[in-house]
Amino acid sequence: LDLRTPAALAAAERWTAHNYHPLPVVIADAEGAWVTDVDGRRYLDFLAGYSALNFGHRHPGLIAAAHAQLDRLTLTSRAFVHDQFADFCQGLAELCGKDLVLPMNTGAEAVETGIKVARKWGYQVKGVPDGQAEIIVAADNFHGRTTTIISFSTDPDARDDFGPYTPGFKIIPYGDLAALADAITPNTVAVLLEPIQGEAGVLVPVEGYFAGVRELCDDANVLFIADEIQSGLGRTGKTFAIEHEGVVPDMYLLGKALGGGIVPVSAVAANRDVLGVLKPGEHGSTFGGNPLACAVGAEVVRLLATGEFQERSARLGARLHDSLTALIGQGVLAVRGRGLWAGVDIDPALMTGREAVERLAARGVLAKDTHGSTIRLAPPLVVTEEDLDHAVAQLAAILR
Ligand code: PLP
Repeated sequence: LDLRTPAALAAAERWTAHNYHPLPVVIADAEGAWVTDVDGRRYLDFLAGYSALNFGHRHPGLIAAAHAQLDRLTLTSRAFVHDQFADFCQGLAELCGKDLVLPMNTGAEAVETGIKVARKWGYQVKGVPDGQAEIIVAADNFHGRTTTIISFSTDPDARDDFGPYTPGFKIIPYGDLAALADAITPNTVAVLLEPIQGEAGVLVPVEGYFAGVRELCDDANVLFIADEIQSGLGRTGKTFAIEHEGVVPDMYLLGKALGGGIVPVSAVAANRDVLGVLKPGEHGSTFGGNPLACAVGAEVVRLLATGEFQERSARLGARLHDSLTALIGQGVLAVRGRGLWAGVDIDPALMTGREAVERLAARGVLAKDTHGSTIRLAPPLVVTEEDLDHAVAQLAAILR
């Protein structure tokens, strides 16, 4: 045992930039909620690729769609149209209840696309003076890693020494409607928010916050952009986390699970009055909306259209939150989240978040810490009740 893991870890360390601090696990194959490492040890995956694996590892329907497409056509570029394109785009637009979608690849590209569309909409539709568009974002946000996106991050690790920074963003506290009202000016084109702040520790804002955001945006003719890249596509027990608030954004930003854990697929969904501002040549991506991405993405949309995964996330999520809440006072200080998504604050007197996830890994459960003593749990939505209970039992055990 333990023969191949140290060598693989050492080689990864030797040949790559150290922009991650992975747990010392080298995964070789996976199915559903389980992964197996190069030495044959099995682990429950309670990170699920930061929610890119909502449907589990190698979901049979998604793998079949990918295989079938690999045998026919993989790339055309958007210089031509291919036969998978409209099916995916129509399905996703209908799932979102929007007129149009614009497919890209990574989450950060969807965010960048949303920013560009909002600015152009501001100049062409709202009538903001050229170069003056402002976008309001929240403190402790996480929207990706491009130079523009990290320009409005408040996390020093994400931001420091990467300047000069892109101007045009205003940062307000998350969940603070008065601050939002104060920040809006005639030049505000959009408010960009995560319905639940994932990287910040799975922070759920107070009830009514998003209804208030929607109202302020409507009053001031400002677009509300919901970054559902991590929170969306079934994770919280609904298709979109913002649905819990009874609010419809002007733009959805989607990614991660949209590619079924197989290919990077992201998209922006919005109505024609917003996305219609883009004309040929003004935005694009070589791989955005490629045939393989569309074949897998269309299958993801079909899985979500059944409602089965959302229902499962809601039902098992209640079980997860009940069992985690029972640990409060027994090494856990607080639990937040919705559906199969939880941020768990470990008592810092016991251990750091990093120590917690290392001990969990030693017990066969893979999870990830965020800031300080918070860990987040987000298993694939196909996880069984038995596996869920097993993982929580391991958490209870490391806290004893
Ligand atoms: N937005 C949110 C809310 C995210 O959680 C992430 C990734 O963690 C991103 C955007 C960026 O996505 P990607 O890593 O695919 O660029």
